[in-house]
Amino acid sequence: MPISLHPAIDNGIQPGVKDFAGGTLTCKCASAPVCVSLKGNVAFNHACGCTKCWKPDGAKFSIVAVISRDNLKVTTNESKLKIVDPAAVIQRHACSGCGVHMYGRIENKAHPFYGLDFVHVELSKDLGWAAPEFAAFVSSIIEGGGAKPDEMSAVRSRLSELGLTPYDCLSPPLMDLIATHTAKQKGVLAA
Ligand SMILES: [Zn+2]
Ligand SMILES: [Zn+2]
Repeated sequence: MPISLHPAIDNGIQPGVKDFAGGTLTCKCASAPVCVSLKGNVAFNHACGCTKCWKPDGAKFSIVAVISRDNLKVTTNESKLKIVDPAAVIQRHACSGCGVHMYGRIENKAHPFYGLDFVHVELSKDLGWAAPEFAAFVSSIIEGGGAKPDEMSAVRSRLSELGLTPYDCLSPPLMDLIATHTAKQKGVLAA
């Protein structure tokens, strides 16, 4: 048995559907769930090993993607949402009933990812979401208590086997995007 990382990827990765129209995320409350409607597909879907992203019980990684904040709408029971840590860069809106994070939002307009909300498409029954493409902050699963240091080579080889290149920060295209934004803010690059 390969080492378990997250139920949505342990049996292999389902490819996404081109021109997918979007769908609905539903929290895990048995009654009065919070529903969030997403218009269109997500981007940069990936496995994340950081200690802040929501993950199901027992999973070593979260699976998290982004979508334009204009394409996200809370459609039911919005009053159940509470911000996990108002001081964090990403304000994660969690259901106060079941604890699931329904979306994370950046309110700092100067942040490179301003305008993008962070979401977990495993909360949707709809099929066709863009597939995970890489693994970020892999070493952080040690900090989160998800893995012992001596399990890390098994974790990294399993990620590679699934086609998710493991990184200990974000992927190179995202790191370049952040650096480009910072360079433009500093005037090193023309805006
Ligand atoms: Zn809930
Ligand atoms: Zn994360």
